Order: sequence, then C-alpha cells, then structure tokens
Amino acid sequence: MQKHKVFVTREIPERGLRIIKKRFDAEVWTDSASPPKQVIIQKAAKVDALASLLTDKIDAEVFDVAPSLKIIAQFAVGYDNIDIKEATKRGIYVTNTPRVLTETTADFAWALLMAVARRVVEADKYIRSGKWKVGWHPTMILGRDVYGATLGIVGLGRIGAAVAKRARGFDMRTLYYSTTRRPNLEKTLGLAFADLDTLLQKSDFISIHVPLMKKTYHLIDERKLKLMKKTACIINNSRGPVVDEKALYKALTEGWIAGAALDVFEHEPTSVDNPLLKLDNVVVAPHISSSSYETRSRMAEMVAENLIAFFDGRIPPNLVNREVLKT
Ligand code: NAP
Repeated sequence: MQKHKVFVTREIPERGLRIIKKRFDAEVWTDSASPPKQVIIQKAAKVDALASLLTDKIDAEVFDVAPSLKIIAQFAVGYDNIDIKEATKRGIYVTNTPRVLTETTADFAWALLMAVARRVVEADKYIRSGKWKVGWHPTMILGRDVYGATLGIVGLGRIGAAVAKRARGFDMRTLYYSTTRRPNLEKTLGLAFADLDTLLQKSDFISIHVPLMKKTYHLIDERKLKLMKKTACIINNSRGPVVDEKALYKALTEGWIAGAALDVFEHEPTSVDNPLLKLDNVVVAPHISSSSYETRSRMAEMVAENLIAFFDGRIPPNLVNREVLKT
C-alpha cells in the first residue's frame, strides 16, 4: 500500500518523528528556522498532511494549491497561525496538542511571575556585571510579595486554571475573567469572577491565558493598562498580540505599572531593538513555556497520534474544527 505523504515543517522531538517516519512517507524541514511561506506552498501542493508549528502561516494561499491536503496536525495547543474557517470550508481537518502542555506552561507562567516579582533576572545581572560591592544591604533589589497578594487570571481555561491551582499554595486571593464562568473551579480553587476592568484594578499580578483571536487582539491596551495598580505586574505567556506592546512600553516607562514578564511577543523572534528589552522591570523569554523534555516529546507523539487516527479512518483525538465532520 502506498504511504500517505506528510510534510513536517520542523524537526519535532524524536519520539513523535520516529512514529511519523515509520507510518508515512515523511519529509522533514531540517533548518532551525521556519520554512518560508513559498516552501510551505510548494510542499503542501504534493502532500496529504502537514505537521505544522505555530510559526507557519497556513491559509487560503496554501489551501488553493493543495488538492490532496486532508489534515494539518499542529505541534501546539494554540492554532492562530491556521485559517480554521478556510480549512473547514475545504474539508481539511486541523488538530492540536492540548492538555499535555498545561502544567508545563503553567509552571513557566509561575516562573515568570516569581521572576518579575522578586527581580530574579536583575539580581543575576547585578552580580555578573560586578555591581555587588556592599555585601548585604537593607534596601538592595527590593521586590514585591507574591504570598498573600491578589492574582488576576485572564482566560480561565486549562492553563489559567492550572495557574490558579498554584496560587493556592501562596495563599493568594485569585480573581478571574473568562468568557464562561466556571462555578466548580470557583468552589474548588476559591476563585472569584470579576469583569476585566475590576480584575485589572484589583490585582497585584495579572496573568494572561486567552487564545489569540480577533476578539483578544490587543485585549490589554492602553486603557486597560491604565486601570492597573502602579505596583502591579503583568505576565503574558499566551500570545504576544494579546497585549499592545507599544502601550505596555508606555505603561512601564511612565510608571502606570511596576513590571512585565513576557514569553511571547507581537512579532517573533522579537528584535533586539525592541525597546521593552532595555527595561530592567521586564523579564523576557523566547516563547518557551511548554519547553520541557517530557512535554515536547509527548506533543510530538500527539501529532503522530492525530495523523494516524485520521488516516486509519477515526476522528483524530484532538480535532479542533469539529464542524469539518459535517462537510
Ligand atoms: P483553553 O483551555 O482553550 O483556555 C483559553 C480560555 O480563554 C478559555 O477558558 C476561554 O473561554 C477563554 N477565553 C477565550 N476568549 C476569551 C475572551 N475574549 N475573554 C476572556 N476569556 C476568553 O486553552 P489553554 O490550553 O489554556 O491555552 C491558552 C493559550 O495559551 C493557547 O491558546 C496558546 O495561545 C497559549 N499557549 C502558549 C504557550 C507558550 O509556549 N507560550 C504554551 C501553551 C499555550 P471559553 O472556553 O469559554 O471560550
């Protein structure tokens, strides 16, 4: 039997890649940078499936030349890089890798929160740059208490809820804002629902966990940042464009807020000239929240499982566009 053709847009971890290579006629893009759009278009024209990353823009331009493309198996939980409406219209399945990365990503949101609150990166740089001259000093690198503070979670989905769980160990008061109220979680995790403006006004730490969509683009803009406490910090490891970076820069330099910790940027990779990188009260990371050995391997395995399920004639376990079943 002829094997189905798959283009894998990057070297995903071996545990998943091995399965894909065994079952399919797979071509893997081995550069560390994403394939240019033109390459994706060329490859898509010849394959039955794509195994994609969040950096690959997959839209009508790709679908138009890809008559045999049946499924896109994304190596991520977010899929804002794929035009879902267009895919569904053409009967193309889209899958993602939810749940497996929830705790790893929540851990990293917590690492960012702690780092910006207690100025961990600044402290590290302080020693390495030879500034530590006076031994112990009563007001050296003062930070903000996390224990007992108020946390505001924007988007109480899988990751938001996992972050809320961690806040319990720090005796925090946790507010959340999300499209849907979650009464069970309110009870079990002791959360209080608030509208977004109230959450921003009352929280000491605000952690963003909404997907990127038209509705969440620049959800945190100048007006919203102005509502925050001057002592508050914002943490974003969802998607960069959810926060208006220009407004954030103003907020941080004009003292509307105290700090920010970002794993994601409006344009990635962000330029070294991004003015946010010049600020000591900003902690940054290169979009690595789900990057642990175990999680990334499991994500790769899920990509393989979704592809195999589809070509075995089953509904892939992590189908995103369920409406495609009606086409
Ligand atoms: P999820 O379970 O779908 O959670 C998203 C939550 O946001 C849902 O509760 C959703 O509510 C809510 N929401 C959607 N639109 C909203 C809006 N306009 N206002 C308020 N709440 C809104 O997804 P997840 O697994 O937690 O992942 C969340 C996001 O994190 C992903 O989409 C991805 O972009 C990002 N992520 C980033 C990394 C990284 O490496 N930095 C890693 C993993 C995930 P409803 O369900 O009621 O609509």
